Amino acid sequence: MMESFGPKSETKYMIVRADYLLSMSEEEGAEERIEDGYVLGEGSTIKECGHYTPEIGERILKEYGDDLTIVGKDITNTTKEQIPKLKAAILPGFVKAHGHDHEATIIGICKDMPLVDWLDGAINPFTRFLSEKREELEAKFGKSANLIAYRKARVDDLSYGITTALTHHCNFNKYYVPDLVHANLEMGTKMIIAVGSQDRNYDPRVLDLPVELATQRLDKYWDQFKDTPRTWVIPGPDQVFSNGPEILKQQKEWSEKHGTLIHIHSAEEYGTTQWFREKYKMTEVEFLESIGFLSKDTMLAHQVHSTDHDLELIAKYGVKIVHNPLANTILGSGMPDIVKMRSMGIDVAISTDGSGSADNQNILAAARLASQYQRGLHHDAKRVPAIDALKMITAIPGKMLRLKVGQVRVGYDMDLAVIDLTRPNLIPTSKRNVVENLIWASDGSEARWVIANGVLLRDNYSFTKANTTEIFADITELQAMFMDFLATQKIVKATGKRAEEGEEEKKEEKKE
Ligand SMILES: [Zn+2]
Repeated sequence: MMESFGPKSETKYMIVRADYLLSMSEEEGAEERIEDGYVLGEGSTIKECGHYTPEIGERILKEYGDDLTIVGKDITNTTKEQIPKLKAAILPGFVKAHGHDHEATIIGICKDMPLVDWLDGAINPFTRFLSEKREELEAKFGKSANLIAYRKARVDDLSYGITTALTHHCNFNKYYVPDLVHANLEMGTKMIIAVGSQDRNYDPRVLDLPVELATQRLDKYWDQFKDTPRTWVIPGPDQVFSNGPEILKQQKEWSEKHGTLIHIHSAEEYGTTQWFREKYKMTEVEFLESIGFLSKDTMLAHQVHSTDHDLELIAKYGVKIVHNPLANTILGSGMPDIVKMRSMGIDVAISTDGSGSADNQNILAAARLASQYQRGLHHDAKRVPAIDALKMITAIPGKMLRLKVGQVRVGYDMDLAVIDLTRPNLIPTSKRNVVENLIWASDGSEARWVIANGVLLRDNYSFTKANTTEIFADITELQAMFMDFLATQKIVKATGKRAEEGEEEKKEEKKE
């Protein structure tokens, strides 16, 4: 196992008090909007939460005085109260159920193109660049270049109030899980790592042949990280179209044996989904069902293009869906009807996807876009109300990932996003509209304090544990070096349908 390291709380107890507490708690009788709310953490766990009173404050100060961190005390010297009420809303730390940590480096590269061209033109070359030039880059930076990319992604998450992430570690990244674990531990976040695989319709240099390589890799990382705090390893085959029956069956069995989730991209882009149906004479979901891949442990990222039969299968097996509206619209992939999915009893979380396609990790913006699109689609302003959109980035993904996150609730993890209500766009905010304003008026950048596992990771907008000067300089240089590399490379058309086109091209070249 990797030795446990990373930020620890300096005091045993921590209290946050603010104008509003939006707990997202699914506990019976839990209030949705609490005025003058507080949360008290003991170590990494929530010990108390609810409506604040002076008596509660006095008791807490008396009991925990010297051992207590009071969040925001330093900026509120105008108040005489010992536990100041912040002009803010306390929410659970946001939970991202699908993302890719290396993509922070390739924001703005390969724009205005569909998914497969973007994968061939940016994602696959970038992860290959990190892999092929690993030693050279390490000598230059004095550290792993993968680590640089993953550190930046942790900072991005925290800047939008995300404290838990499922990182789908695809492409050449699958060989570099230890760097990702390192970044996660160091930055104080929580992470499920879905380790990638593929054995067809992809860049040949990254194929797992023989297919046993995929489960061997999982075994290795499982042994290495099973006792590592805040870190979990699960199978994460890259795409349905890039994994054949045998490799998927083996990983599904592995997931059942280890009692883990299993995560895969499915039916993301229109053209690729059509091509798959023609080539294999069934939909991606039907294919997954035919090999026994669907169950309540299965998470499908995207599932934009579904037939009625697909949705029936998804509902029948209790499969979970992660909707990524930013990436789906930017890449022109299409958008799923999540209202219909939810009406069939399917669990749907909203996420950002990687920054390469979404161009940011603004999870509140993702929630807003999801709601906005469904209203347009259904010609109905009542669809996906703000509270539902918020639950889809907190409590719902928290339950999906089977962690005690996404709700402010006693016994849950002390993970909080404290949203600044002094920003002009969020004024005026009252109890009546605080939930709505977060979805419709926020720009997503108002996470003024962010706490994870009882540690203050962002304090009044400053990152307490991340050396952002170094990270930002490194990542800028890394992107520049990648651009130089990319200019010297022939783009290998190898993803999905492009695999066949690539073959045709090769034949043409030979003829010439
Ligand atoms: Zn993705």
